[in-house]
Amino acid sequence: MSEGGARVCGACSLCCTLLRVDELGKPGGTSCVHQCSDGPGCGIHATRPSICRAYRCLWLQGSLEDQDRPDRLGALLDLRPVGEALRLEVVLAEPGGFDASPRLQAIVERYRGSMPVRITDLAAPLDPDAPFRVLLPDGEEQRVAGERVQRLRAGRVVAEQRLPWLERRVRRLLLAWSGFRLRRAARRRGA
Ligand code: SF4
Ligand code: SF4
Repeated sequence: MSEGGARVCGACSLCCTLLRVDELGKPGGTSCVHQCSDGPGCGIHATRPSICRAYRCLWLQGSLEDQDRPDRLGALLDLRPVGEALRLEVVLAEPGGFDASPRLQAIVERYRGSMPVRITDLAAPLDPDAPFRVLLPDGEEQRVAGERVQRLRAGRVVAEQRLPWLERRVRRLLLAWSGFRLRRAARRRGA
């Protein structure tokens, strides 16, 4: 989406597919209609939405190794504030991409020592029950699908439970709000 620091996006345009752009009514995990058809690049570069101008993934900011550009790594990585702490967000370019990539697993393990890591794929971006995983620094892994949570240690399920009531409510409200913004943006585009 943008260029900055010593690195440039080059042939990568993964964020244009993986990220949500409410101004365009574009759900995460879907190609943007403005992506150039003959290679990486934005067809409305001069007038692209502010979120596209501002976005810089972790790699573009100078973290990770040169070889880990998102299109090569197969995942988009960002640090997100959660309360007063940080969480590593990993969005996979393809379902199953984490288990298939020793390089991505090594990067995640490095960050996991100091913060939770949330791994998701966007095969079904508007599905409120789409599964995701959270890897915690203490070794626990949580696999969340809809409102169910499996807790694993060393690859074995040690507990299964429902998300707490408050989390379920917040999650449903966020999904409803997100859907409303996407529909509103789509209506404006069609107006
Ligand atoms: S994912 Fe990162 S490197 Fe790739 S286009 Fe987006 S900002 Fe640039
Ligand atoms: S408007 Fe341009 S920069 Fe923004 S997502 Fe679409 S192609 Fe990427």
